[in-house]
Amino acid sequence: MDFSFTQDQIAIREVVRQFAKERLVPEYQARERGGTIDKKLTLEIGKMGFIAPALPENLGGHGLDNVTTGIIIEEIATGDHSVAYIPMLGALNADILRTHAPPEMAEEWLPRLTRGEVIIALALTEPQSGSDAAHLRMKARREGDVFILNGEKTSISFADQAEMCIVFARTGEEEAGARGVSAFLVDLNQPGVTRTRFDDVGTKIVGRGSLFFEDATVPANMMLGGEGKGFTQVMRGFDFSRALIGLQCLGPAQASLAETWPYIAERKAFGSPLARFEGVTFPLAEAETLVGAANLLCYKTLWLRDQGLPHTTEAAMCKWWAPIVAYEAIQNCLLLHGHAGYSTDFPHQQRMRDVLGLQIGDGTAQIMKMIIAREKVGRIAVPY
Ligand SMILES: Cc1cc2nc3c(=O)[nH]c(=O)nc-3n(C[C@H](O)[C@H](O)[C@H](O)COP(=O)(O)OP(=O)(O)OC[C@H]3O[C@@H](n4cnc5c(N)ncnc54)[C@H](O)[C@@H]3O)c2cc1C
Repeated sequence: MDFSFTQDQIAIREVVRQFAKERLVPEYQARERGGTIDKKLTLEIGKMGFIAPALPENLGGHGLDNVTTGIIIEEIATGDHSVAYIPMLGALNADILRTHAPPEMAEEWLPRLTRGEVIIALALTEPQSGSDAAHLRMKARREGDVFILNGEKTSISFADQAEMCIVFARTGEEEAGARGVSAFLVDLNQPGVTRTRFDDVGTKIVGRGSLFFEDATVPANMMLGGEGKGFTQVMRGFDFSRALIGLQCLGPAQASLAETWPYIAERKAFGSPLARFEGVTFPLAEAETLVGAANLLCYKTLWLRDQGLPHTTEAAMCKWWAPIVAYEAIQNCLLLHGHAGYSTDFPHQQRMRDVLGLQIGDGTAQIMKMIIAREKVGRIAVPY
């Protein structure tokens, strides 16, 4: 057993850490007030090679491993959790496209994704189906060489900023459930698509919102995977994003902890530094323990993926647990800053609001526990 990163991974971590410190941390709060991710920043992240580095070079990547992808996302999220949506979603979508897109499609879109020229969203959720995603209603009807899309997707990250979107739509009958759903790479800049934006609690620059498709079109050759197999094939990619999301939430928690230890050593009450009181240090010591354990679980999951070993159970564990651990750690840091911690002068409140969303996004804790149960006892543990 070897817990150390390689020399290359350590060197990459140093580069990303420096980038986060110099480029992301100083504008973290101002960026939220701005409301969107500046295109220049996305291009810069692309130029640094931080988006989907696991892709082979001919598709715009650097042939790096999944553990390194996790390192990059964790370090970016330490500076700005919302900006880390770009490499997190980029890694997930790149993995889906590399695995399921026809070669010409992959060659056209993946290098543009890795350069940060396009944001690709992923649209699964609908107003009436989130956790029960297999019962989506959006329709894709074939007419010659194109499919005509009609329906509504909601709660889509980057709904108002993405140029392209992986859209799940029903090409078969509703009774077919997950079978009968196909996935397409759709151009969002077309007359048949309109967008709205939500006023979210956190991750405001991600611009979650709805997408409305009214006779929008997608060429038939933009289908990912087989017809009627989009759901079952593409959903496998989520084992990857679930470990990355864990690290994306733990990064901000580590940032808050790193700021709170020196604060409690400095701040005095009852004639002593706060750090002399166990009531102050123990919650932080517990948070360090849980954050450290969740961090290891995420890297183990990515390592399993790198070895080609099963990791569905571990990925679901990362996804239900790490966002909760992160949220509670940041909350403790906020409280230990006293009244000042509750003001927007400190970044803890923003970090807390930011990481909260990923207790829901990409599947809730209940659904993740259902997946773990299914892996242990089989389909008897799922509703259908
Ligand atoms: C920050 C954020 C980003 C997101 N980004 C995207 C995106 O990019 N693309 C996309 O397609 N979607 C996205 N989503 C949507 C997200 O995937 C869904 O919100 C999520 O899957 C839950 O679906 P729902 O909101 O419809 O809740 P529901 O399915 O209505 O569930 C409501 C509650 O009931 C619980 N529940 C439901 N069924 C069961 C059950 N059988 N047993 C126990 N509990 C159950 C759920 O856990 C939840 O707590 C995002 C959401 C958020 C918050």
